[in-house]
Amino acid sequence: MSLRFYDTRAREVRDFTPLHEGCVSLYLCGATVQAPPHIGHVRSGVNFDILRRWLVYKGYRVTLCRNVTDIDDKIINVAQAEGVPWWEVSERNQRAFDWSYDILGCLPPTVEPRATGHVPQMIELMRRLIDAGHAYAADDGSGDVYFDVRSFPEYGALSNQRVDQMRGAADTDTDRDKRDPRDFALWKGARPGEPSWATPWGRGRPGWHLECSAMATEYLGATFDIHGGGLDLVFPHHENEIAQSQAAGDGFARYWLHNGLLTMGGEKMSKSLGNSLLIPEMVRKVRPVELRYYLGQAHYRSVIDYSDEALREAAAAYQRIEGFLTRATEVVGHIEPAPGVPAEFEAALDDDLGASQALAIVHGHVREGNTALSEGRKERVAELGADLRTMLGVLGLDPLSEQWAGAEDTGLREVVDALVTVALEQRQAARKRKDYAAADEIRDRLNEAGISVEDTPHGPRWELRRG
Ligand SMILES: [Zn+2]
Repeated sequence: MSLRFYDTRAREVRDFTPLHEGCVSLYLCGATVQAPPHIGHVRSGVNFDILRRWLVYKGYRVTLCRNVTDIDDKIINVAQAEGVPWWEVSERNQRAFDWSYDILGCLPPTVEPRATGHVPQMIELMRRLIDAGHAYAADDGSGDVYFDVRSFPEYGALSNQRVDQMRGAADTDTDRDKRDPRDFALWKGARPGEPSWATPWGRGRPGWHLECSAMATEYLGATFDIHGGGLDLVFPHHENEIAQSQAAGDGFARYWLHNGLLTMGGEKMSKSLGNSLLIPEMVRKVRPVELRYYLGQAHYRSVIDYSDEALREAAAAYQRIEGFLTRATEVVGHIEPAPGVPAEFEAALDDDLGASQALAIVHGHVREGNTALSEGRKERVAELGADLRTMLGVLGLDPLSEQWAGAEDTGLREVVDALVTVALEQRQAARKRKDYAAADEIRDRLNEAGISVEDTPHGPRWELRRG
């Protein structure tokens, strides 16, 4: 079976063939860094990290370019409200985003360009568009440069709408000197007190759409393989990226992949709702790897409607996987990942990255593994454990990987382990002398401290209770 993806532009699942054999170029719209991220912001990071890891597993060399929009109306507004420079807001929030991607186990992009570092490339693209009759500088001398949507017949093809039915572009406060209200800003003329850069058409700052076209082309070439982002970016952002790049004569993205949104009570997550779901808050509720599992378990194109209950269920599901692998290594010793994933797992991810089907196979292995453990079939335990490690590695979820095994403070864990072992030995001693009240008291005291004890054929096991 071959690798295939649902292409938003074609509105169907297409076989994937990269432009250059053995290589995949992937552009992902990154953050506009006006505030720290909540979970709705990082879903695409996790979904596309799984895509990237799967492509690497399939033998491709992947170049991932994920931009940072470091200048924008909202960033300027935050800076003015706080009385600090715009770049201070951008820097601070970019660090918050990077920290969040890191703790969720998203591999860093190959390159992470910032908009303000690519003004010359944007000026060049505007010049090409103006020369070709697809863009114009406003006659009022404001410094605005607009894209002429009527000059590009395919405008609307990605979002499947006709130009006549579109509303005006809401990207400038006034339409200043637009020829058509639907024309969108490539460049926004400077306003007093705001940051600006010089161009042949006057000072101003980049329009959001122009940034992505310029940076994608700079790092991935005029034509590249996959463009990704959240479904809310299809229109106008991605529609406009296509218009800018293809009107200028570039091939641009060959496949368009969009992840579904994360909602709350069926609504898009607003800033006020999102505040309680900021990443530092979330990783107090569950461990980062459990949050990654939660965001990655659904098909990337499906909607996730957030609830604490679903998050807890996801954490519990992850702990079942982790529990088996921990017990398996206790019984059979170190388990190396298998050289390849099972065929049905490969088929699930090849088919438009079916993470939920892939995880069903993972949980099937865990169930079978637990049975094998209870029946003492060590060889089977080791086989299933090896398969699990490889499958989970591809999803960025292997509990025994370097990334997650050391995720808790291992030094502290050793200390706790030693202390709990002392308590458990006393409990065993109490049981031996048939002082069950004392034995139960020890277990209850541990329980109060958040440590649950389970008696297994291999002796008592303990773990920290979550949530
Ligand atoms: Zn973009």
